[in-house]
Amino acid sequence: MSTEEIPLARPVIGEAEERAVLEVLRSGQLSLGPRLEAFEVAFAARLGAAHASAVSSGTAGLHLALRAAGVSDGDEVVTSPFSFVASANAVLYERARPVFADIDPVTLNLDPAAAAAAITPRTSAILPVHIFGYPADLSAFEAMGLPIVEDACEALGAVHADGVAVGARGNLAVFGFYANKQITTGEGGMVLTGDPAVKARIDSERNQGRAADMGWLDHDRLGFNYRLSDLACAVGLAQLDRLDGMLASRAALARSYRDALGEIEGLDLPCDDRGAERRGWFVFVVQVPHDGPGRDDVVRGLREHGVQSKPYLPAIHLMSFYRERFGHRLGEFPVCEDVAARSVALPFFPGMTDEQVARVAAALRAVLGRG
Ligand SMILES: *Cc1c(COP(=O)(O)O)cnc(C)c1O
Repeated sequence: MSTEEIPLARPVIGEAEERAVLEVLRSGQLSLGPRLEAFEVAFAARLGAAHASAVSSGTAGLHLALRAAGVSDGDEVVTSPFSFVASANAVLYERARPVFADIDPVTLNLDPAAAAAAITPRTSAILPVHIFGYPADLSAFEAMGLPIVEDACEALGAVHADGVAVGARGNLAVFGFYANKQITTGEGGMVLTGDPAVKARIDSERNQGRAADMGWLDHDRLGFNYRLSDLACAVGLAQLDRLDGMLASRAALARSYRDALGEIEGLDLPCDDRGAERRGWFVFVVQVPHDGPGRDDVVRGLREHGVQSKPYLPAIHLMSFYRERFGHRLGEFPVCEDVAARSVALPFFPGMTDEQVARVAAALRAVLGRG
């Protein structure tokens, strides 16, 4: 049996990506070239979405999406405290306030009833997160009549109960392509929308506020440099070609984990798909039992067994920046706090072997003392 450390994540990069990057390097056009539109068109087509705009990161995409939704100074945006910090930070970029509401204990997504209770006259948008790739209950949020920005950064490949791909409902929806995501461009992101005018605004704002038909140094609005290079777009195109295989591999791995870990008493596993909903597998996160070693001891113990793992995710409202800025405290969002305090991400990447899954499971049993 191998004792090499098992990493948490690892991208699948092959000859197709290498060739694609070389072609761009040799073409002389490294940015705002033909791969940009090709990647946008292919991504939108893959999901059945109307329009896509490639941007430099998921975080940049969330920022532009919130601006496009009309979020500005003094507004409130209702969102999940159980997310990667970027979804709340992006609200602050526009001097608006993230208003957290508790999560559903099964799906770990923003709870629609809690979100509805958090709406005030200052609420200008709702920002649900498809956490760990599980589809958020979008029809419930859409019924609230406010602009919606979906954080779909973890949810490529996820499908709603009605068969529509997550991100393709016509709302502003944002994907991310950091190295651990379902597809990667190193860094990168994509904003989807059903509205061509919204796409035009995002395309302009990612490029310093320049309209498509304007001269190089003329700008008719405030913009940013949130462009994605043609090098990155070329990698993204090659990754899209592998997407089905990589998603199938992640789903098979999740089944292996479920078989290997299902018998551990008190250990909470990712929820099963409900009805026709489909998770787009991104990470495999377990919640350690209430009555055993704590999350950080488990992470340390796994490392001693040659298994990388990570506390994932910590609650955003309890991070020091958010506590100090907004006076948040323990007890505000009990479901989120309980889940976050016990959540550990295990190694999860296409190509991970059954032998590696068995090693992780054995290590986890040993560390939890439930061999
Ligand atoms: C990855 C991720 C993002 C975006 O991250 P970037 O590193 O900026 O691409 C945003 N929200 C969630 C929930 C994520 O997992």
